[in-house]
Amino acid sequence: MAIERTLSIIKPNAVAKDAIGAILGRFEAAGLKIVAARMLHMSREQASAFYAIHQGKPFFDELVDFMISGPVMVQVLEGEDAVAKNREIMGATNPAQAAPGTIRADFADSFTENAAHGSDSPENAAVEIAFFFPEGVCPRTR
Ligand code: UDP
Repeated sequence: MAIERTLSIIKPNAVAKDAIGAILGRFEAAGLKIVAARMLHMSREQASAFYAIHQGKPFFDELVDFMISGPVMVQVLEGEDAVAKNREIMGATNPAQAAPGTIRADFADSFTENAAHGSDSPENAAVEIAFFFPEGVCPRTR
């Protein structure tokens, strides 16, 4: 299996409930290394650009309003099969369908406020990582 990187976001509702440590701990326990991290409060322009693919969909405005409602914690996770592994740890997009023990099952408040984001392919991960970390990501040596 390939070593991949993926972009992960702890969304504003999970930051507000002080779940950053618990969520990052799940990634580390699963063998995903945190190779970059930053906390920021996105502007409407940033959130709209990040979710540009969803522009025009019925949930877009609600999604952007939510994503700018408070700070988010953004990190790059690295490890074997990181894209799929992160999505498995997060659980289904709709928290009502998320498997027990997943981040969304445990920390989501609604379909929109579903606690976490994770890239859905290595190609999108590269684009999303560059969006938040244009200066690049330093490799982990140990
Ligand atoms: N979303 C929503 N309603 C929907 C579908 C998606 O509020 O019907 C939100 C939800 O926060 C989701 C985000 O939009 O995480 C992006 O949707 P996507 O289908 O890309 O799901 P993801 O990749 O985040 O699992």
